[in-house]
Amino acid sequence: MVLVVALIQRGSLQPQTAELLSAGRSLADSEKQPLHAIVLGSKAQAFAQELIDRGADKVHVVEHQALDNFNDELHAQAVGELAEREKYGLVLLPSSVAGRALAGRLSVRLKAGVAAEVSEIAQNGTGLKAKRYQYGGNLISELNFGAPVKVVTLQAMVFPRAESKPGRSGEIVKAPFQPAASRIEFVSYQPEESNDLDLGAAERIVSGGRGLGTAEGFKLIRELAGAIGAAVGASRAVVDSGWIPYRHQVGLTGRSVRPKLYIACGISGQIQHLAGMTSSGTIVAINTDADCPMMQMATISVCGDINELIPLIVGEIKKRKGHA
Ligand SMILES: Cc1cc2nc3c(=O)[nH]c(=O)nc-3n(C[C@H](O)[C@H](O)[C@H](O)COP(=O)(O)OP(=O)(O)OC[C@H]3O[C@@H](n4cnc5c(N)ncnc54)[C@H](O)[C@@H]3O)c2cc1C
Repeated sequence: MVLVVALIQRGSLQPQTAELLSAGRSLADSEKQPLHAIVLGSKAQAFAQELIDRGADKVHVVEHQALDNFNDELHAQAVGELAEREKYGLVLLPSSVAGRALAGRLSVRLKAGVAAEVSEIAQNGTGLKAKRYQYGGNLISELNFGAPVKVVTLQAMVFPRAESKPGRSGEIVKAPFQPAASRIEFVSYQPEESNDLDLGAAERIVSGGRGLGTAEGFKLIRELAGAIGAAVGASRAVVDSGWIPYRHQVGLTGRSVRPKLYIACGISGQIQHLAGMTSSGTIVAINTDADCPMMQMATISVCGDINELIPLIVGEIKKRKGHA
């Protein structure tokens, strides 16, 4: 049976939860089994129906203050105790820092096979099969699991989000929890100060790469992003060069994104960048090299110099909006 771990982050369900529920639902359906979820924290009960609306058949609610802020040890204890008691065969987790930390601890506790950042997962006749990028995205490996219990983190933004059907019926049960002594103490939460739109939630993203030439080039990217209400993304090459902070990086070792519109400016489209954005709706590439991978895979490829083209595009947008 499949258990989805729904983590609460700053008072809301972690955004990837809807993706975990859709992947979990297909796996449960293929085994003709119900889908279960666990939600943790003193306000966990408030999220139980939302999990049912999005496909869970039964939700275990672990209400305890000790679980209000992520604590590797206590979250692993709560999920582990339930997984052992109910004998779940597969535990699905998000690919967030918390999800990955939990996966390691749970796999040891449950003596489970563990796979991280999985981009495809399905049951076939012989068991559970998964796929994930490896060696910096140069290989896609296929995984079989030798152990009866499996713990898997799913790559973000790759699986569809489960739709909500308000009022769907399901069972909500309270799970007992007595926290063990923990060596971890939550001290405080300090959000990063930034006016930037969040990449994960953005419907439009304008990303810049080494083709910008210098850090100053991001002024162009910000102008275009501002004109269309987009978030600003970046390739690793420019993050490593210190042109823009890491939180903007898209790709295998950055964020996975799925906006309706992704505009890649001066980005060649190496596999590690593509790994984080190929699920975008419409992909526009602006590049001087018509043969680079990004231009080859884009929905619309514009061959030219970004320094000339972006000001023209921004001018045209402003004109049409009546601002110039
Ligand atoms: C383990 C590992 C993990 C990685 N993770 C990531 C990741 O998460 N995200 C990521 O992005 N990369 C990642 N990389 C790095 C990746 O392999 C590439 O090096 C990187 O994506 C290249 O960035 P880029 O496209 O900006 O630069 P380049 O590959 O140098 O491309 C620059 C592009 O700009 C174009 N250009 C130049 N001048 C202009 C101009 N005036 N106008 C228009 N176009 C112009 C060029 O034609 C070229 O296509 C990873 C690599 C490894 C090994």
